[in-house]
Amino acid sequence: MSPASTAVPGPVRTCIGCRERAAKSELLRVTAGSDADGRPVVAPDPTAIRPGRGAHLHPTSACYDLAVRRRAFSRALRRPGEGLSTESLRTYLASLPGTTSTTSTTDHPSQKELEQ
Ligand SMILES: [Zn+2]
Repeated sequence: MSPASTAVPGPVRTCIGCRERAAKSELLRVTAGSDADGRPVVAPDPTAIRPGRGAHLHPTSACYDLAVRRRAFSRALRRPGEGLSTESLRTYLASLPGTTSTTSTTDHPSQKELEQ
């Protein structure tokens, strides 16, 4: 533990995909939930309000893939051997805007309603 690390405002969590530490606000929280059929799933929790044990990862397909490959979800969520489905999380990540590998800040502001 070195106190001289870079100052990150707010709490820091470790991404279960790439294992890098990042500000909690940059990571997506996921929790163990169940789908309509009662099967265990990894559920995205973007607002971080769900009770229970959560895990954090970068909301990117790269970190998702890493976490899936290493079975990091079931370990982090303490659900070993339950066959947690990560499908809904993958769908969620795919629906996020701007999570492709190349991000540019020169986005034209379309459909931005600032004030009415
Ligand atoms: Zn990551």
